[in-house]
Amino acid sequence: MKRFDYLMPTNIKEAIEAQLQYGERAKFISGGTDVLVRLKQRALDVDCLVSLRRIPELKGIEANGNTIRIGAMSTFRELIQSQLIKEQLPGLWKAARVLANPQIRNVATIGGNISNAAPSADSVPPLMVLNTNLLIHTPNGLREEALEDFFLGPGKTRLKEGEVLKEIVVNLPPVNCKTFFVKVGRVSQDIAVVNGAMAIELEGDQVKTVKCVLGAVAPTPLRLKGVEQRLLGQKIDPHLLRDVQQLAEEEVRPISDVRASAEYRRHLSGVIVRRLIEMATGI
Ligand SMILES: Cc1cc2nc3c(=O)[nH]c(=O)nc-3n(C[C@H](O)[C@H](O)[C@H](O)COP(=O)(O)OP(=O)(O)OC[C@H]3O[C@@H](n4cnc5c(N)ncnc54)[C@H](O)[C@@H]3O)c2cc1C
Repeated sequence: MKRFDYLMPTNIKEAIEAQLQYGERAKFISGGTDVLVRLKQRALDVDCLVSLRRIPELKGIEANGNTIRIGAMSTFRELIQSQLIKEQLPGLWKAARVLANPQIRNVATIGGNISNAAPSADSVPPLMVLNTNLLIHTPNGLREEALEDFFLGPGKTRLKEGEVLKEIVVNLPPVNCKTFFVKVGRVSQDIAVVNGAMAIELEGDQVKTVKCVLGAVAPTPLRLKGVEQRLLGQKIDPHLLRDVQQLAEEEVRPISDVRASAEYRRHLSGVIVRRLIEMATGI
């Protein structure tokens, strides 16, 4: 592997200054489970890695009024161990439990998972169905933006040079709103062939509010607005389930790759959406 500088700043300001000094020849590194793989594969070439590991401001998981704030450096192990995440954000908790394997979960961070912008990132669908915002530290101060607007394409986000993802701010849904997560991989511990989450609020047997996001079916995690529209105000029955399964297949824009064909991903999208609704309604 090519030699590069490795800096370990102890606050965000220093990290930003270090990154700006090297410009596009520097990259932030958190857990390194994406960055180091890409360096070894020579898919990434840098003169400097700026580690975020020693920055206390990027750590911690806490409830704050109607939000839960998750420090970008929180590892998936920490998410699994958090009672707050388990009770308040069960969709994210489940996604954390099925991400990779224990060795990866010990170091991989939620901030890295989001910033890396893989269409298959497991943490994104369960966060996106809950109106999540990202708190970003820029060279000029803080800005907040919706997770839904953050992704521009595979590996591409709205983060600019010298910007650090500081916190993930999840707006808690109403108590009756439940979130669910489903992932299908080739084998357990693998990156998703398709993953998906749903936040759904039922009033009696009718759908009051619903949000549905699938991953690995488009260049960025995809909100299925057609499915949501079809479900709103409706009573769940076998006819509706068949309809939304078909709508999901029509809405996705998958590609074929080493993990699956586009055709299989399309089929799986319908099955996952159907399964998410069945989980919500217990049918
Ligand atoms: C064997 C293996 C299995 C895996 N399985 C899965 C899986 O099942 N599901 C899944 O979703 N992923 C999986 N991954 C991918 C990876 O582990 C995750 O995406 C992980 O969450 C990345 O986090 P990290 O802290 O290691 O990121 P890093 O590798 O440190 O960084 C990733 C990218 O984000 C940037 N970055 C990191 N933190 C910040 C920040 N705070 N602000 C701004 N930019 C930042 C870095 O510059 C880099 O571009 C797997 C990886 C491996 C090697």
